[in-house]
Amino acid sequence: MYLKKLEIKGFKSFADKVELDFTKGITAIVGPNGSGKSNISDSIRWVLGEQSAKTLRGAKMEDVIFAGTESRKALGCAEVALTIDNSCNTIPLDYSEITIARRLYRSGESEYLLNGTPCRLKDIVEIFMDTGIGKDGYSLIGQGRIDEILSTRSEDRRNLFEEAAGIVKYKTRKQEAERKLENTRQNLIRISDIIRELE
Ligand code: ATP
Repeated sequence: MYLKKLEIKGFKSFADKVELDFTKGITAIVGPNGSGKSNISDSIRWVLGEQSAKTLRGAKMEDVIFAGTESRKALGCAEVALTIDNSCNTIPLDYSEITIARRLYRSGESEYLLNGTPCRLKDIVEIFMDTGIGKDGYSLIGQGRIDEILSTRSEDRRNLFEEAAGIVKYKTRKQEAERKLENTRQNLIRISDIIRELE
């Protein structure tokens, strides 16, 4: 599994559509200060479902939409699509290529797409769980993250190992099941209260 293609349009400094084709091996992106190198990694984080504008170096989510320059009007929509080669079926979906896309309009409307079909953020998060690719996955190491990994609490480091060990999805499902059980328990208490009132 590897990152095959990134398409960016209207995201931060990329007003026009930009297509980056990655081959196997190492790709380095070089350019002068302020030319948009970090905006590329921001776009990857964003399409994977980042919800924090601060993590994307903005004040509000709308800041990811091209804000215009002296010679060019601002745009109304940001769009990023990321294609992953899945010919080894690391992601348990019946596709040799998986494209996830995210769009955000200035009106606040947004959507996620999985191979062209609208989907929920939850679907995208689940697909990448335990692969190391998600927005918090260890395959995206931002500036300062190494220090953070080495120095943060042992519980935080444990999250990293759990993702690598592939148990995050089971932990998440367990938490969901526990939440549902608790809701059912509360509903049962309410029902027995009503029954008692009626008796
Ligand atoms: P450095 O090497 O200094 O870290 P960089 O190549 O990583 O720089 P970025 O931080 O990716 O550069 O890009 C910064 C540029 O992106 C700035 O010129 C900024 O004005 C522009 N930019 C950020 N958000 C937007 C936006 N919403 N609309 C237009 N331009 C934007």
